[in-house]
Amino acid sequence: MGFAATRAEALAGLEAFLPRAGRAYAANRNRDEGPGARTHVSELSPAIRRRLLTEEEVARAAIAAHGFAAAEKFIAELCWRSYWRGHLETRPALWVRYRRDLQHIEAELARDGRLAARFALAVQGKTGIDCFDFWARELVETGYLHNHARMSFASIWIFTLRLPWQLGAAHFFRHLLDACPASNTLSWRWVAGLQTVGKCYLARAERIRRSSGGRFQVSAPLAESATPPPPEPPAPLVPLRPLPAPDPQVPTGLFLHTEDLAPESIPWGVTLRAAAAPDRIGGAPAAPKRWLAERALDDAAARVAAHFGLACERLPEEELEPAMVGFARRHRLRQIVTAFAPVGPVADRLRAVATRLAQEGVTLVTVRRRWDELAFPAATRGFFAFRPVLPALLA
Ligand SMILES: Cc1cc2nc3c(=O)[nH]c(=O)nc-3n(C[C@H](O)[C@H](O)[C@H](O)COP(=O)(O)OP(=O)(O)OC[C@H]3O[C@@H](n4cnc5c(N)ncnc54)[C@H](O)[C@@H]3O)c2cc1C
Repeated sequence: MGFAATRAEALAGLEAFLPRAGRAYAANRNRDEGPGARTHVSELSPAIRRRLLTEEEVARAAIAAHGFAAAEKFIAELCWRSYWRGHLETRPALWVRYRRDLQHIEAELARDGRLAARFALAVQGKTGIDCFDFWARELVETGYLHNHARMSFASIWIFTLRLPWQLGAAHFFRHLLDACPASNTLSWRWVAGLQTVGKCYLARAERIRRSSGGRFQVSAPLAESATPPPPEPPAPLVPLRPLPAPDPQVPTGLFLHTEDLAPESIPWGVTLRAAAAPDRIGGAPAAPKRWLAERALDDAAARVAAHFGLACERLPEEELEPAMVGFARRHRLRQIVTAFAPVGPVADRLRAVATRLAQEGVTLVTVRRRWDELAFPAATRGFFAFRPVLPALLA
């Protein structure tokens, strides 16, 4: 098994999966044959998450192969990602709340030995629940879990093991190769019963046996019922802010980051005279996640050189703010364009960079793709209210 680390590998992966993206996907996508044996799902999420492949090109390829009707299920699943990203973008308090709660819970974990012991058994895969223990190890070893495994894992974590969902989300985020602030946090919230009021996801032994093709016995008892938590105060709706377009008249550089690694397909609307990217990713990811993300970043930097004819300078991630100032000065830039980064750590970092650059009279201008412009405002309520935007996205 190998997850695509470059755009060329991702395109090859898409090409190989396309014959199965039609009615076969709709019929079989919930079946999980296990690591190294999966044929019913694409395993393209790490590439799509960093936009080595854009949602748009993946959806169009599926339609070209099968027609819209047969590819609809695959496209709808793909659009869950756009929905979650748009939802968090327009309800950013959900991210702030999660980060704040996680801090408190991590402090409690450091104080409370019994909680720490239960947490350790779960993440090491030593709970005695065969499927859960297998998935716990699979997650750490491979950085990937099938969607059904993610749902069941999260459900067992919350309702059987009675661990805080925020700790599970943070553990996933550290290990998943496709870790996405929106898809991950909001999916955990959905399983916990916080995202759709009054509805949570309860893992059932029989469903796990069936979807795993009998790989697991699930003889240890799972929670029989799940009580949705009391509703939280609603997160205020923050309408999508229009972004000012880059000024085509001023000397402009490009900054590349891991939220969007297909800079060739963004309509920048300016002539670029220099390009830069961080030399590594930030945060504290597990080693396989760091490895894959940094190979993808190297690949995009090489494509910038080939496509725009600009050597992509690598700036020290740990000192990004002063390094960006140096980059702007070296090339006498007044403006740096960069792909839009949705709510999450990269967006936080870009805000700090923008503030520092502004002190030098340099503007950091973010450019949002048409896909996100259309999808995000439609994602303020549930997925069913979002679905009618699909024809416009694909028009
Ligand atoms: C608790 C939990 C946490 C999750 N965390 C993440 C995450 O951090 N990053 C992430 O990309 N997905 C996340 N998902 C969604 C989903 O599990 C993965 O996108 C999917 O399993 C990836 O495998 P695949 O590429 O083989 O998917 P396929 O079935 O081949 O689907 C094609 C693409 O559609 C998108 N997609 C499919 N299902 C979903 C979904 N339910 N939500 C969002 N996008 C979807 C992905 O980009 C995927 O690559 C999470 C789901 C759960 C239940």
